[in-house]
Amino acid sequence: MTQSVGETSWSTRLAAGSGVLVFVLGLSVLVGWVSGSRALIQVLPDLPPMTRNTAACFVLLGMALSALALRGPRRVVIWCAGVVSALTALTIIQRFLQLDTGIDEILGPSYINVGLVFRGRMAPGTAVCLATASIALALSPTRVSSRAAMLLGLNGSIVTAFGVAAIVGFLGGANLAALHTAIGLTLLGFGMLSLAWRVDADPAPTPRWLPLSVVVAVVAATLGLWRALFLGGYEPFALLPSAVLLVGCVLAPIFALTVYLAQRGHAQAEALRRSEAFLAHAQNVSRTGSFAWRVASGEITLSDEVYRIFQLENVRPVTLATINERVHPDDIPALYEVIGRAQREGHDFEYEHRMVMPDRSIKYLHMVAQVARNHDGRLEYIGAIQDVTARRVSEEALAQARAELTRVARATTLGALTASIAHEVSQPLSGILTNANTCLRMLIADPPNIEGARETVRRAIRDGDRATDVIVRLRAMFRKEEPTKDSVDINDSVKEVLALSRGELRRSGVAVRTEFAMGLPAVAGDRVQLQQVMLNLLLNASEAMSEVHDRPRQVLVATTLADDGHVRLSVQDSGVGFLPEAAERLFEAFYTTKESGMGVGLSVSRSIIDRHGGRLWAMPNAVYGATFSFSLPALA
Ligand code: ADP
Repeated sequence: MTQSVGETSWSTRLAAGSGVLVFVLGLSVLVGWVSGSRALIQVLPDLPPMTRNTAACFVLLGMALSALALRGPRRVVIWCAGVVSALTALTIIQRFLQLDTGIDEILGPSYINVGLVFRGRMAPGTAVCLATASIALALSPTRVSSRAAMLLGLNGSIVTAFGVAAIVGFLGGANLAALHTAIGLTLLGFGMLSLAWRVDADPAPTPRWLPLSVVVAVVAATLGLWRALFLGGYEPFALLPSAVLLVGCVLAPIFALTVYLAQRGHAQAEALRRSEAFLAHAQNVSRTGSFAWRVASGEITLSDEVYRIFQLENVRPVTLATINERVHPDDIPALYEVIGRAQREGHDFEYEHRMVMPDRSIKYLHMVAQVARNHDGRLEYIGAIQDVTARRVSEEALAQARAELTRVARATTLGALTASIAHEVSQPLSGILTNANTCLRMLIADPPNIEGARETVRRAIRDGDRATDVIVRLRAMFRKEEPTKDSVDINDSVKEVLALSRGELRRSGVAVRTEFAMGLPAVAGDRVQLQQVMLNLLLNASEAMSEVHDRPRQVLVATTLADDGHVRLSVQDSGVGFLPEAAERLFEAFYTTKESGMGVGLSVSRSIIDRHGGRLWAMPNAVYGATFSFSLPALA
């Protein structure tokens, strides 16, 4: 796994600050050239001038360095560093081949307007330094990687060393470069070193380039100093003791600093290793792994726990295709839809799906992902994957037990109801039968007993009335019960119903999609009764798709706020559907097309919705399936 080691902001500030100083230095010399100010070009009359090309290169490299430090547009870095590379490469070629390609005067004849006596060609050392610096900057990505840090660090130390040597050289009268060019190079090199310090994606405790660049810098500066003193007329070996002393003095603090940094780096690496081990342990215990998905490149980074969950320990690299091979075939269409939408829209997402392991066992995974745009603005998701198999298995067992219980309860209630109806109605019925028989006998007697017959018919009518009464009373018992009027949030209620029926729906291979309207007003009603309606619609939708094998079994549960201010919920399936002319019959009591159906679900649902002042209706879909909807007045 990759990780980011602390990014020091002081290094960013130093690099950006150096970039700005280099830019200002170059710009002021250019202004000097344009305005003919010798003080700006030469600093002192007897010092060599900074050429226009060098000044222009400083302006460009100052911009490139600041842009890199501040993570500015990469275009700027490439353009600025590219122009400097080309210019300095040509200068070096000119020098070796003794040519004049005209680039020295590209910004105008330098020696004419300020009255200098030689042509304004960049010093070779300066050209080499600027060329390597520009190449290192051009090759650096905006976010410094360990390899780019190495390149920048080494280059920066060479440029700094040359700059320092050139400054020191002046003391002995050696002109490696103009004085302010030397200062500019030192600043530039220093800025590059600071940038290189911004270590990223590199778990090594200390930058690997540090010892190397320390040696390069010390050797170059010593040689520069030595040469300067030598040119200044000193005997070279007479200087040895003082040079050794000086080098020792310089090396000692550098050495101490290196050791200190190495130790600190080691301690940081150790702390990081420990916190990683801690995190890995926590991931293992909670069966939760983390992942990062860079959408454009398709690059996927997984924590060890995810490899374990997916049982992909020996597979590298893992791609979306590798993961998809493990996804349960029934969950693939819905997963593709979630992934496709995440790729297109860049929204956080949450999803649960199953995976089939090599031993054919099934795992349930819960995935949560958040958008985390990476440094160059590209879409990236960072998230967690939890193995929820144990929980789901027990939930399913629970749901199965609950469904069984509901079935038993339903049968029991119906049984009790039937018994009570039978009991209440059978008495008047047998009364009617007895009276009717007696009446018949009285009428066929010879002579017929008209008065007796009349009396028995009256009794039969009384019994008939009693039976009607019983039925009316029973109906009243079921119908008149006023629903309680609580404030019900339809979105929350249907979410609960979906959570409860998840196991049942999954067993039937149904993928559920939801589209909930935001900020939906509440409705007044009995939450439990309304949830009963929702559950009935959902299970009916699932049953309507049980025979479907040639297309995905999909249910879309949507809520909207209708134009009339009513809250509407619809359940759309891809099942067998029904004929338009049957739309109303479905709601009749005891109408069913199912072998084990009772045909009361929709009629009870409609009476519940009616009692809430709403409407429940059904419509066949244009292609497959049907949509059942209800709408309820919003709570004022
Ligand atoms: P049951 O489900 O016991 O049959 P219902 O009253 O819930 O009782 O449904 C009555 C009938 O309506 C069903 O038998 C079925 O023919 C039809 N029906 C219900 N929901 C759907 C649906 N989503 N698609 C097609 N037909 C349906």
